[in-house]
Amino acid sequence: MPNRKRLKSYTIPLSTFENAMHQFDQAAGKLNIDKGLLEFIKYPKRSIIVKLPVRMDDGTFEMFTGYRVQHSTVRGPAKGGIRYHPNVDLDEVQALAAWMTWKCAVVNIPFGGGKGGICCDPSKMSTNELERLTRRYAASFYDTFGPETDIPAPDVNTNEQTMAWIMDTYSMRSQRTVTSVVTGKPLCIGGSRGRHDATGAGVVITVREALKHLKMNPEKSTAAVQGFGNVGSIAALHLFRLGVKVTHVCDVFGGLTNSKGIDIEALIKYVKEHKKVVGFPGAKPLDIKKLLYAKVDILVPAALENQITEKNAARVKAKIIAEGANGPVTPEADVILKKNKVFVIPDILCNAGGVTVSYFEWVQDRIGYFWTEEEVNERMERILTEAFDGVLKIALENKVDLRMAAFMVAIQRVVEVVQLRGIYA
Ligand code: GLU
Repeated sequence: MPNRKRLKSYTIPLSTFENAMHQFDQAAGKLNIDKGLLEFIKYPKRSIIVKLPVRMDDGTFEMFTGYRVQHSTVRGPAKGGIRYHPNVDLDEVQALAAWMTWKCAVVNIPFGGGKGGICCDPSKMSTNELERLTRRYAASFYDTFGPETDIPAPDVNTNEQTMAWIMDTYSMRSQRTVTSVVTGKPLCIGGSRGRHDATGAGVVITVREALKHLKMNPEKSTAAVQGFGNVGSIAALHLFRLGVKVTHVCDVFGGLTNSKGIDIEALIKYVKEHKKVVGFPGAKPLDIKKLLYAKVDILVPAALENQITEKNAARVKAKIIAEGANGPVTPEADVILKKNKVFVIPDILCNAGGVTVSYFEWVQDRIGYFWTEEEVNERMERILTEAFDGVLKIALENKVDLRMAAFMVAIQRVVEVVQLRGIYA
């Protein structure tokens, strides 16, 4: 057992899952809820690990490990993405699954929480190898996935194509087309308009609400965005369109800076062609490590978890942190940021636009009638602004930060349903 150091009144969490559990405990401590009931809703309902043998292009076999965790099905089917990354392990997937439960509850959509992943490095695999790996994964979880049980979606390094393979594998085994088994699909096979951009667009809706609350003018604000994938690039684009000057961006390969603001529309075009931000002519190179400490008003960590920790939180200069990624700020960092009056929009609220439009996609697949992009965006915006207002109100009433308030709202919503449904048997 590693040593558990003590920081003031609580134990320093040791892993991503412990971070998530710690956040839960902090909020649960503010609520008057039966201890046994809290234990029930805190831990994952079911965690499954599978071996995934894959024939590689050179004829050899490689063994991968896949995960699916259903954290909660109290409020509805487990919902959440599938991640392909070398760091994927049970601990991370369990944390991400728990955050999905609280995220779906914060925006009040009728889902529980789940997450899946495969420990692999997709940058070193061909499209054919990725397809075989994905189909083997989907086949292994045929009994787990389903429109009414567990609905995957994209996450880090997975996309519309990955979802199409999962939908097809599931459909072939079912001998009928089941579009609603996954969300984040291509439009022509039951995807929703607006889903591709939803997470990044939603991040900026919450930033806009935060700016309003803090009486800051978007046009006089600057931003730095860490990560230029589906979430980071679209968040940067929407910040740019809101009039915010995006002065710093980076992806895994390198960073860019321009004190006059980067033309994000041009950068997105550049990245489509070059697959990375480095080399973009409209900005100077930036050391990735410096991005988090940029002198900006808004910082959007939109890459991976555990980026802002007790080691570097004091160096953050931004007034607002908008968590595009899941879990980018550790609990120890939260304490430091709070002391420094940084306004943190927590992941379970900030990046909930993605799963909200996933919910719309699932609804549209089930009724077989598809909405316009305006309808999707308008409904997503309403849900996110209402969630933001609700969380902010609880935060102000209880004099707590937004993360604590969001967890309090979410836990209460899950508890209410447990009490109504009762315990089976
Ligand atoms: N992976 C995304 C998230 O972390 C989306 C999940 C979904 O749409 O189900 O929220």
